Amino acid sequence: MDGARVVVLRLGHRLVRDERVSTHLALVARAFGASEIIFPEQEDVNVQRKVEDVVNRFGGKFKVHFGGGWHSIIKEWITSGGIVVHLTMYGVPLPEVIGEIKSLNKDVMVIVGGAKVPREVYSMATYNVSITNQPHSEIAALAVFLDHYFEGKEFYLNFDDAKLRVIPSTSGKKVISIGRQGHEATQTGELSEV
Ligand code: SAM
Repeated sequence: MDGARVVVLRLGHRLVRDERVSTHLALVARAFGASEIIFPEQEDVNVQRKVEDVVNRFGGKFKVHFGGGWHSIIKEWITSGGIVVHLTMYGVPLPEVIGEIKSLNKDVMVIVGGAKVPREVYSMATYNVSITNQPHSEIAALAVFLDHYFEGKEFYLNFDDAKLRVIPSTSGKKVISIGRQGHEATQTGELSEV
């Protein structure tokens, strides 16, 4: 996506237990226009493999990074001029701050938590933003934030080097396989799902 860079920082990932939620967070981040997701505490090769498989088939340059420690990553991001948006039910409603966030035109780090988010994250964040003040899901919160941030442009994103492209259809599944020269080749059947 053109303009400021958007990256996602996923806190509190637990091996095995959070594999599916974290994979879906990464896939939402990619599909909705973010350029990378960082897991600062815990490496998970299964999440990485599943996300890279989607990137391989559907294209783009989306990256998954591990390590670095959340405190240092947030500090460094702010020092280098970016802003930090922490998604939490306790924050300010998104419609009240999205205009201001966009008008800054700065790189944005979006933080989503898991079971418990360290207190300091709330004070380090430039904005604590709620997607309603009810508890729900980090995946839903991220999707709504990115959709508002990109104003629906994610619906028309083109991913470089895609080997597969979905042809929107009112019935059935239409998928084009793109050849090496960038030409359409065959119409494929079922896709394996993540
Ligand atoms: N008490 C948590 C909170 O602060 O929002 C809910 C924990 S929820 C299992 C995990 C993550 O989902 C949170 O850390 C937050 O990033 C996101 N989340 C859940 N509900 C949200 C809401 N209403 N607004 C924004 N983010 C939310």
